Amino acid sequence: MAVPKRRTSKRKKRLRRTHYKAERPTLQPCPRCGDWKRPHRVCPTCGYYKDEQRVAVEDA
Ligand SMILES: [Zn+2]
Repeated sequence: MAVPKRRTSKRKKRLRRTHYKAERPTLQPCPRCGDWKRPHRVCPTCGYYKDEQRVAVEDA
C-alpha cells in the first residue's frame, strides 16, 4: 500500500481546505404562504405541497 512520505504541513492542509465551502441551499417562495422553501419539498411554514395539506404544522 502506498504510504505518504511526508506529513502534510498545516499550511498545505489549510490551503487545500480553503476550497471546502458550504453550499447555499436553493430557495423558492411558497405559492401558498410566500415564505421561502426548498423546491420539491413540503413547505415548513404551512405544510402544503401541490395545493394539498401534507404535514401538520405545530405552533402556527
Ligand atoms: Zn407555505
